[in-house]
Amino acid sequence: MSLNDPYADGWARAIGAAVEWLPADRPTLVVVPHPDDEAVMFGGLIARLGRRRAPVRVLAVSDGGAAYPDIADRSALEHDRRNEQRAAIEALGLQVGDVERLGLPDGEIERHESLLVGLIARRAEERGCDQIVAPWELDHHTDHEACGRAALEAAGHLPGRTTLVSGFFWSILREPPTPGLQLRAVPLTQDERVAKSAAIRCHRSQTERPGHERPVLTADELSITGWPFEHYLVRDVD
Ligand SMILES: [Zn+2]
Repeated sequence: MSLNDPYADGWARAIGAAVEWLPADRPTLVVVPHPDDEAVMFGGLIARLGRRRAPVRVLAVSDGGAAYPDIADRSALEHDRRNEQRAAIEALGLQVGDVERLGLPDGEIERHESLLVGLIARRAEERGCDQIVAPWELDHHTDHEACGRAALEAAGHLPGRTTLVSGFFWSILREPPTPGLQLRAVPLTQDERVAKSAAIRCHRSQTERPGHERPVLTADELSITGWPFEHYLVRDVD
């Protein structure tokens, strides 16, 4: 995180207290609100599971057409971002066929939340996934929060116990951590860090915007993706 970030101290304490945790090498469903979140939020975890041959299914919830409000041609941006996400998925060691596109509208996922709950639960059950990875339901972005809430509710609908692995991005940059938040730290190998970095670089529409004030993701914001750990909230949901 940036040293200029007013919330750095609170997150530094939460992260410093995080207990090391490793995901189980078992069928896993990953809920991704926008193309880039699979790399930025979960890249190391996905790379780890992929290399260990754990079946990973990615639900690509939106195609990211609302990234730049001044771009009128959403379909062209969505086309580019789908291609970027395909390349990122391969950089993380998965195959394009491991991704299922839901096509929900970027910026309005919460309007389709009950549909999303059903889709997550159905796909997890079909694929035998008892581990679900999604954004934290308080990740300071309406789409991330909707996906997080939907994953939590879907996990509760599944038979047996499901491990819900919730990731962070915007909340680390924009809010102090919730008091008492107990994080888990997934250590990343050098190979996993390289794969994550390569996947993030695939999302050029989000990291470069020549001639404009700033891209969606600045180098300063992305600095948190270079850490040797990814941090998650891990909950067992019955
Ligand atoms: Zn996102």
